[in-house]
Amino acid sequence: MDPRIQLIKGDITKQKVDGIVNAANSSLMGGGGVDGAIHRAGGPAILDDCRKIIARQGSCKTGEAVITKAGNLPASYVIHTVGPVWNGGEKGEAAKLASCYINSLTLAVEYHLPTISFPNISTGIYGYPKKEAALIAIKTVSGFLLENPFIKTIFFVCFDEENHNIYNDLLSKQSL
Ligand code: ADP
Repeated sequence: MDPRIQLIKGDITKQKVDGIVNAANSSLMGGGGVDGAIHRAGGPAILDDCRKIIARQGSCKTGEAVITKAGNLPASYVIHTVGPVWNGGEKGEAAKLASCYINSLTLAVEYHLPTISFPNISTGIYGYPKKEAALIAIKTVSGFLLENPFIKTIFFVCFDEENHNIYNDLLSKQSL
């Protein structure tokens, strides 16, 4: 496993990194889960930026990512990406979930953000099976890191015990 990948159990709003990723919805207007926690902790500066983005480009589509200031958060930026809603697995969910990671990391490189924290996108309200989502997250991030020496550390921040155990198991394996 790439040594630049780290596992953390905790709250992503507390991470002192260059960028944290938000599992947003396409309206970018906040919501439940990690999205709500980020907007609550970061304050109105984040929503202000989100409104400007929506005015400029319309909604943020599934798999895409946009970037805003981080307001009162210890991180410098928030990258908002819209994960797929789980719909049985035959609706392109896996490719869309992989796009979330790739598009978020592409923004991180563009904005010169060497340390990034990811939540477990789509595995809450959006219902993506946790192990399948973790496999996609780890494989996609590992592949991106191979081609991007600029990225220093990627933290997978697991809020719930179940995701933390799944990531722990997968990351301790030699190969996936
Ligand atoms: P989605 O709609 O993409 O499923 P959710 O926010 O419902 O988004 O859940 C995504 C993941 O975020 C879940 O695994 C959930 O446990 C986790 N989560 C919720 N709150 C936080 C937080 N404060 N920090 C990190 N992860 C969180």
